[in-house]
Amino acid sequence: MNVVFFGAPGAGKGTQSALLARRKGLKHISTGELLRQALDEQTAVGIHIRSYMDRGSLVPDDLVIQMVNDALEGLGEGQGFVLDGFPRKVSQAEALSHQLAKMGLALDKSILLEVPRRVLIRRLLGRRVCQGCGVNYHIESHLPQKEGICDDCGDVVAQRPDDNEKAIEKRLEVYEESVKPLRGYFQKVNRFVIVDGMGDTEDVFTRILNVLE
Ligand code: AMP
Repeated sequence: MNVVFFGAPGAGKGTQSALLARRKGLKHISTGELLRQALDEQTAVGIHIRSYMDRGSLVPDDLVIQMVNDALEGLGEGQGFVLDGFPRKVSQAEALSHQLAKMGLALDKSILLEVPRRVLIRRLLGRRVCQGCGVNYHIESHLPQKEGICDDCGDVVAQRPDDNEKAIEKRLEVYEESVKPLRGYFQKVNRFVIVDGMGDTEDVFTRILNVLE
């Protein structure tokens, strides 16, 4: 099974993609995660992209497309994938389609997770993320038992540098500009569905499994 998730920052793409990948044995390919790894490793790429990410802009296409192509080429024999945060633009969707055709693969479903803007802002401002395993917490609804320490892996839980008001505003603006054309593209070429991203993680996950059946 090959699935693409798209949706606004804070819609739950990361959480739901990880759940789906675990449940179905798929490779989880998150461009946000891959880019943050490059930042942490202080590679030449990392240094180049920091300014884009910190202010909430999209990093240049060629870089992200190459990252995704490399990840796809690293798939195991017959292994499916969940793409999380890619494509974010029609140009990226076209590059993906080209790469999949080259590999003899196709998308089974493109899923748009929909959440109202006011909820997105609350989710993002209160979000805290484990620096080790990437599990999300929230200051209002889901704090780790020991302050600042992940319940699952014991690593540090902190706020993402781009989860501040200014960068959130920019990320939502970038999303709103790109979502219409991207949605139009997926409606034409893929099995496109909208899933309501409101409510508990488990409820949203059940909705996703239902549309994948
Ligand atoms: P995310 O973790 O998906 O919220 O992504 C965090 C940041 O990484 C975004 O604000 C962008 O700066 C960058 N990024 C992630 N995915 C992409 C993409 N497909 N194209 C361009 N930039 C991206």
